[in-house]
Amino acid sequence: MSIPNPTPNPASHLFFQIGIVCCPHCDVSFTLNCEDLNTRVWCQSCGKTFIYVDAFLNHYRRDPRIFIDPIHPIPIAPGYTSGGETPITPDEIQVIAYGVLYNRPPELFFLNEQGKPSRDLLLDNLYVAAVSINAESFILLSRTFNRAIKPPAYTIRWMAIGEIGKHEKPIWIDILQNAAGLILKSEEQAALVMLQVALDFFIDALMEQLGFKSYDVKTASRRWKISDRRTKLRLIEERIGSFSKELTTKLINLAEQRNRLVHGKTSRKDIETYSGSDAFVLIVEAINAINELKYSNLRQPIKLVKK
Ligand SMILES: [Zn+2]
Repeated sequence: MSIPNPTPNPASHLFFQIGIVCCPHCDVSFTLNCEDLNTRVWCQSCGKTFIYVDAFLNHYRRDPRIFIDPIHPIPIAPGYTSGGETPITPDEIQVIAYGVLYNRPPELFFLNEQGKPSRDLLLDNLYVAAVSINAESFILLSRTFNRAIKPPAYTIRWMAIGEIGKHEKPIWIDILQNAAGLILKSEEQAALVMLQVALDFFIDALMEQLGFKSYDVKTASRRWKISDRRTKLRLIEERIGSFSKELTTKLINLAEQRNRLVHGKTSRKDIETYSGSDAFVLIVEAINAINELKYSNLRQPIKLVKK
């Protein structure tokens, strides 16, 4: 069976860049794209500076579940949405090009008659699904149930969401994206472990932004007789202000849950346990809360250390 050439992009295609940032100082949102997500950029409204990725996450702070939505997750880095309307040729294979090249196969879904997203469509005497999704196009399969009856002429609506372009990313963003991928595959336990790693790398990146060196951690850790991880958090709190008690408790519970998974034991029995998606939301909320403290309480301007 030969595969036809991709359907060229009709003018009805929709394109939408995912690159909205929300200024952590004045809360104004605007679209901005950046090659290096660690770059310090200017707010178009208040003129103050912020780190791109902080403002990207800040834009989604009220709805972090958008990154782990089972049908249309938004990438945790600038991306792209494309969509279109395609007339169906029943029982024939159609190749549909997005019109942009994604970094990897995007999340693809159809919109049903109610405008709700769906992985496939069950229409009158016709079933429609994508059988293969790659970075530039997808193969659309349609099947009539009763060949004797010709189905009406259908035009289906589809949407694709994914990352495009090359972005230099802080490593914790990549790890967080991996954790989101694990949650979408229902690999809960691996996701929980991955989320702790993401938080640890975020903390290390923040320590670097705040100008702490590894010997600062070693010296303080010896002085306070606590673990390196707790020392880092304490040093950060001394610099930007204390985390809320609620956040600290949740993070301790999550760390305990991770230890129980990895080492099979925990020092406490009464801890609250989190599902992968709840843990994901908690980590994104923690990152946003820590960033909020950083921008509001930092006594000196952030000195960014460029690698
Ligand atoms: Zn601003």
